[in-house]
Amino acid sequence: MAIKKRILGKTSLNITEMGFGGIPIQRISEDEAIKVVRHCYELGINYFDTARGYTTSEERIGKALEEVRENVYIASKSHARTSKDLWENLKTTLNNLRTDYLDVYQLHNVNEESWKFISSPNGALEAIKDAKKEGIIKHIGITSHSPAFLIKMVEEQEIFETIMVGYNFIAQQPAEILLPLCKRKNVGTIIMKPFGGGAFTNASTALKFILVNKNVSCTIPGMLSVEEVEENVKICSESLELSEEEKKIIEEDRKILGEEFCAACDYCQPCPSGIPISFVLRTELSSLRRMGWTESLIKQTQDTAQKVDACLQCGVCEIRCPYQLPIRKLLPEKMERLKKLSETRSIP
Ligand code: SF4
Ligand code: SF4
Repeated sequence: MAIKKRILGKTSLNITEMGFGGIPIQRISEDEAIKVVRHCYELGINYFDTARGYTTSEERIGKALEEVRENVYIASKSHARTSKDLWENLKTTLNNLRTDYLDVYQLHNVNEESWKFISSPNGALEAIKDAKKEGIIKHIGITSHSPAFLIKMVEEQEIFETIMVGYNFIAQQPAEILLPLCKRKNVGTIIMKPFGGGAFTNASTALKFILVNKNVSCTIPGMLSVEEVEENVKICSESLELSEEEKKIIEEDRKILGEEFCAACDYCQPCPSGIPISFVLRTELSSLRRMGWTESLIKQTQDTAQKVDACLQCGVCEIRCPYQLPIRKLLPEKMERLKKLSETRSIP
């Protein structure tokens, strides 16, 4: 069982087509997290992605990989918009990861608005270029939830050697222009949230759908147990061709999730009424399926219901949503269903 590798665009790094996504290990104990990361390494995964914004994730990955640092590629991200903040973030990240360099450092969750600050004098772009010149970071990347924005970046900014975007069998937009463009420009493509942030239940169909696309360099699922690591490595080590049964599963999931799939990017925020939009749109298909009704989820549902009632119908959220979701139509429908499910403690 050997996981296959692909070249990460112009970085020339030879990385495993499935890497490790560092978001979920924040939710488990440190010992468990270290065990999971080590198991990934032992099974051959060589690309580990985290971010300054993922609380304990960097520290845990650092502890797990310290002794094998030279055998792996580590990527992190910074939300910094200014040069000063980026240097501070980078210092903390290196310290957390117990290393003196990063293989890939990415500007995190960028859009048109934040790019104005990042690319202005004393912005984070200056600092990230300087950090590369100093050899502290080997390659520069950018992450965004907006394929359209990333197309613009890849076309206009030679500096970016990798992009990270969400792509799956519901949100297929990146496959049309962005991923082929990256292939032509030799920009590495890293696919985040391959399981739709927990909305897809079948790991095999989700991973194969992404990796069968040769314009993809790698995907980085989060994994919470050694069993999950083993299952995902097995899937990626075998043929990526989707069986007839798996194609049917995809069709079913498409029908269920339909055109209403929320990627939890929170670009729709801030909402003037304080409505946690992604919570309303996603809970039924993600946290509820994963964890069932907890006391805190019930309380959050009750509190959110009052906020949804106070929606101003201003539509600002819909203008910001990169997936053009009809948020004003969906919010009351989803909220009503969530309330009903919480009253009976039902799980769909
Ligand atoms: S339409 Fe409603 S949910 Fe959307 S931003 Fe306005 S108040 Fe918030
Ligand atoms: S509603 Fe749109 S912008 Fe808001 S979290 Fe979901 S996908 Fe992102």
